[in-house]
Amino acid sequence: MVGQSLYHTFKRYRTLQTHRISALPIVILMPHSACNCRCVMCDIWKDNKNLKQLTEADISGLLASLKQLDTIQVLMSGGEALLNANFFILCRILKNVGIKVTLLTTGLSIKSHAAQLLVLVDDLIVSLDGDEALHDAIRNIPNAFRKLKEGVEHIKRINPAYRITGRTVIHRLNYRNWPAIIAESKKMGLNQVSFLPADVSSHAFNRQQAWTEPKQDEILIPEHELPELNEVINYLLTEYAVDFDNGFIAESREKIRNIYHYYAAFYGLNAFPYKKCNAPWVSTVVEADGAVRPCFFMESMGNIRDAALGDILNSAEAVEFRKSLDTLTHPTCVKCVCSLNLSPLANLN
Ligand code: SF4
Ligand code: SF4
Repeated sequence: MVGQSLYHTFKRYRTLQTHRISALPIVILMPHSACNCRCVMCDIWKDNKNLKQLTEADISGLLASLKQLDTIQVLMSGGEALLNANFFILCRILKNVGIKVTLLTTGLSIKSHAAQLLVLVDDLIVSLDGDEALHDAIRNIPNAFRKLKEGVEHIKRINPAYRITGRTVIHRLNYRNWPAIIAESKKMGLNQVSFLPADVSSHAFNRQQAWTEPKQDEILIPEHELPELNEVINYLLTEYAVDFDNGFIAESREKIRNIYHYYAAFYGLNAFPYKKCNAPWVSTVVEADGAVRPCFFMESMGNIRDAALGDILNSAEAVEFRKSLDTLTHPTCVKCVCSLNLSPLANLN
């Protein structure tokens, strides 16, 4: 692994101190607004008819800012990025300037795209919701699990060293299936698996309004089931000790325990788990219509079709937003499920 330059590290420290973005190591792009799954915990697919997508011109237009801000990694998120017919052209534009590309995908079409993925995408993160029956039920798509598994196995056969990790949102419908999810991840050959609780309260993921209570209840773990969630977590901490120790489970034991505390906090049983986040200082989100957000959950600050990314991120309003943002007390941050805390020393190369 190549070390990052001292100057880049300095720029990352300076960003945290001044709230002006000098270095932006991570950029999250949403190349396509639609999705090929119909998950119960997400409203993105309900807006599939209002298709928006990033174009070659959008990505080429970002390059000057990405270079100026020393961007190291682009995470392609969604919707399902592979639905963008020009997805691999977008990847090539980024790869040509030395930016690492990671794809977060449903995995439904990774088998048919394997040849290009292996060349133009550095690693994959696949969403996994349960064993075969449960994954298909949550995804609301027949054979979703089989296609995902076949795709992972196909890519691993061609290049066993290619990194594919799993990501699971734990909620009411799948917490009892948790051990099976770990077992299936191993069986299909994933390198690592990561868990987070469901975001039931924010406007992210295309929700025009935060979910109302009946909708929240579909995936929020009810208070009377919390002891069972606790038992499942205790079981994991004991039975899967090796997987915590060797990093197959990405989170620390404490973070997994905090998934219980996150759900318990909805009933006032404890505070929401403490977390640090510097996402708006080290990353940004560019949506399929070009809107730029400081993170998935905060309001848009501009649009790359109207201004350069660097200018949007360092406008007086954006700098003031970061200066006044206290992620320990902001109500959206307190309940946030996917915070990011990247140290200036963390090497993404
Ligand atoms: S959660 Fe992800 S995979 Fe499921 S519908 Fe939403 S965007 Fe698609
Ligand atoms: S804690 Fe969540 S909502 Fe707050 S800045 Fe970080 S990613 Fe955004």
